[in-house]
Amino acid sequence: MRFETRAIHAGQEPEPAYGAVNVPIYQTSTYAQDAVGEHRGYEYARTGNPTRTALETAVAALEEGYGGLCFASGMAAEANLFYLLKPGDHVVMGDDVYGGTYRLVARVLQGWGLEFDAVDMSDLEAVRKAVREETRVLWVETPTNPFLRIVDIAAVAEIAHEAGAWCVVDNTFASPYLQRPVLLGADAVVHSSTKYLGGHSDVVGGVIVTTNPETHERLKFLQNAAGAVPGPMDCFLTLRGLKTLAIRMDAHCRNAGRIAEFLAGHPRVKAVHYPGLPSDPGHELARRQMSGFGGMVSFELDSEDEALEVCKRTRLFFLAESLGGVESLIEHPGRMTHLSVAGSPLEVPANLVRLSVGIEHPDDLLEDLSQALA
Ligand code: PLP
Repeated sequence: MRFETRAIHAGQEPEPAYGAVNVPIYQTSTYAQDAVGEHRGYEYARTGNPTRTALETAVAALEEGYGGLCFASGMAAEANLFYLLKPGDHVVMGDDVYGGTYRLVARVLQGWGLEFDAVDMSDLEAVRKAVREETRVLWVETPTNPFLRIVDIAAVAEIAHEAGAWCVVDNTFASPYLQRPVLLGADAVVHSSTKYLGGHSDVVGGVIVTTNPETHERLKFLQNAAGAVPGPMDCFLTLRGLKTLAIRMDAHCRNAGRIAEFLAGHPRVKAVHYPGLPSDPGHELARRQMSGFGGMVSFELDSEDEALEVCKRTRLFFLAESLGGVESLIEHPGRMTHLSVAGSPLEVPANLVRLSVGIEHPDDLLEDLSQALA
């Protein structure tokens, strides 16, 4: 089955009792058993829930991995992955990973004895140098936030494997429609499904996709042991979003491409960060490892005041954190998303504005930005 078909059919057979074509919301915490030790696949809803199983199966099929596991948030998924490590283990991650990832590693796990180095992952020599005997995970995020830099997943996976470590990719910004890290050699993929997978800004969630049965079973054990699972309603909403992922991503890419070109030609805009622009440093690599350039664009104005003013003036672009929904959002990373996770080594310039370009009509979005920049 092709991607669009898998998004609608993988793990989503009609429901057996009445043939409902949508996976029901199994709103239950426990399951009646036929006899002691005889159940129908589910005993307790932290351990498993059929709505969650459907979502886990669907995301794993889209990422072309072995198995999927869903969590209450992207951060819960990440934490679950890090539970695989032990004191003294070492992690190499990008110096511009999502600030919440940096905060988890630097301000929580480091206290438990996990060691890490944050490096510019587009510099493969720097990655190689940071790897040491204790390195267990190379954590890649691409495209990055808010500069939309591109990291070579296949090259980092190779470095990881030479060192006997894992390459984990946070695929939140690209989604499996545009980028499939497992096919490039990654050992696991994580998502904040709050973003493009859900796609409608109405649910918070996270996913891990694994590539082999042993890791899957270990992470499933940890998922149940730590318990940060999503509720069935959240799984239903994410599953519903997933069905339209392909057509949404096509529209996000189309609109973001037009907006990036418009901004690149605007006299008030000093710089535009978008891997779809031929002048962007990540363009060639993005062309190779992605099938589209995504819906996120950031740009720089003359000053912080101008950036704040533009954020205030848009009407269709709502001023809000988060990304990946059908509606367009604008934000000031320096004072919003990146202030809330202050402490990471990433310097975010005060004149930077970030857009999550939605799927509205592109002409309306261009008119809105045009009036805000006027
Ligand atoms: N990874 C990336 C790239 C993100 O942008 C985010 C949230 O913004 C997360 C992980 C964390 O996800 P959540 O907010 O669902 O916990």
